[in-house]
Order: sequence, then structure tokens, then C-alpha cells
Amino acid sequence: IIRFDNVVKQFGEARVLNGLNLAIEAGEKVTIIGPSGSGKSTVLRILMTLEPIDSGVVYVAGQPLWHEQKAGALMPASARHLHDMRKHMGMVFQQFNLFPHMTVRRNITEAPIHVLGLSKQEANERAEHYLALVGLTDHADKFPRQLSGGQQQRVAIARALAMKPRIMLFDEPTSALDPELVGEVLQVIQRLASEDDLTLLLVTHEMQFAREISDRVVFFDKGEIVEEGDPETLFTAPREARTRAFLKLT
Ligand code: ATP
Ligand code: MG
Repeated sequence: IIRFDNVVKQFGEARVLNGLNLAIEAGEKVTIIGPSGSGKSTVLRILMTLEPIDSGVVYVAGQPLWHEQKAGALMPASARHLHDMRKHMGMVFQQFNLFPHMTVRRNITEAPIHVLGLSKQEANERAEHYLALVGLTDHADKFPRQLSGGQQQRVAIARALAMKPRIMLFDEPTSALDPELVGEVLQVIQRLASEDDLTLLLVTHEMQFAREISDRVVFFDKGEIVEEGDPETLFTAPREARTRAFLKLT
């Protein structure tokens, strides 16, 4: 459902993705791990079309996100197509990025109403459903500042789910949280990981969690995949010295 073919991404002189090849099947749960600055967030941001690429092709659901035009410059696919692609994907960031001036309910109903064209009532029903899923039924009328970090992050997850995406992208969803709040967010993600149809791409430093929920773990360093494999093998018996060093295995 996702494919990066030889994708290069530069920021000025710095080559952040160095010919990345990565394919993710529909329904697969994939975790990306790797040191700071290795390009993990960039992969997710490219998928959300928040960043353009310099060369290569990125496909989502069989369609290229960017089209090559004259002189090798890559242009975004048509506005219509991008709009369709974004509807397939939900993203949750390290910082929760809720709309501060809206209640929890309105944070969740905003996009279903304005992007999907749901009626207010349909969107409210959907919000109830996903608030229940993340355990926040009683908080619908609060504003983000009245919630803990863990609760805010769960709202952010409910908001993404309310678009009924086929793909959920998580970029270090627990790293801004106090340790005692991490578990409640991981629990929600774990529940999503048990949904067969949902494709999940997660960047995290929670290694134990990655080991439990992933079908596959990808270790990134310097814009390249150093090693990938099933979580048991990657976390206990990696082939590459760089992976062992990162995991502090000897
Ligand atoms: P972290 O674990 O710290 O979140 P990461 O693996 O997510 O790191 P990226 O955010 O993808 O890393 O960044 C990869 C590299 O690209 C870094 O060296 C970063 O400084 C650089 N970079 C990212 N965004 C930009 C930008 N908008 N302009 C210039 N350089 C950028
Ligand atoms: Mg990052």
C-alpha cells in the first residue's frame, strides 16, 4: 500500500534520504527505529505530502504521490489526487497539535465535516465512537489545555481515526509525555495494531512496545535502511554492527 522507490531527499546540501527503498503491505504493522537525524520523520512527512522529494517515486495505494516533470523536477500529483491520498492517511505527531480554541469534540468533527462532508450529527456520532475507543467519553466538551498530555494525545489519535484512514502514521507519539502517561497512549496504539485492515507505520523509541506490536522493524541510519526484519530477530540477533551498537547489544 506504500512504496518508496529509490527516493532521494535533500535539505540543501544535506542528503537526508539516500535512495530509500521501502515497501509496506496493506495491513502491515511496521516500526521505524534509528538515531536522531536519521530521516525517520522525513519519511512520514513525505507520505503526508508535507515535504517534496528530489528524485525517485513514492506510491500510496498504487498511485504516485509526485510526478516527474521536465528536467527531473518532481511536482506533486494533482490536487485532487493529493486530497484523496491524504484522506487515506492519518498522522499523529510527537506534539499533539490539537486546535487549542476548539473543544475536544470539535477537534474531532472538524475534518470529517469539512473534508469528508459529513453532517454535524454524523460527525458527532463518529466523535463519540472514537472518544469511547480512546477512553475519553467524558471529556468531549473540554478544551485541550484542560487535559493531560496523555489525554491530549489520545484525542489526537481519535481525531486521526475519525477520518477512517487506511494508514496510520505515528511519529514518536509518546516522547513528549511524562513517563506515567506513556502507557495509556501505547495501549490505544496496541488496540489499533490488532486491527487487521489498518496499516500502521510507527516511529518510536519504545523498543519493547515495537517488539510486541510490529510485524517488521526497520532500522534507519543516515537516510538508509541498515537492516530490517521480524522484531524477534532484529532486537535479539541483528546482523549489522550498527544495529547492535544502536540497541546497545554486544
Ligand atoms: P529524530 O529522532 O530526532 O526525530 P529523525 O530521524 O526524525 O530524527 P528527521 O527529522 O527526518 O530525523 O531529519 C533528518 C535530517 O534532516 C536531520 O539532519 C535534520 O536536521 C534535517 N532536516 C529535517 N527537516 C529539515 C528542514 N525543514 N530543513 C532543513 N533540514 C531539515
Ligand atoms: Mg523525528
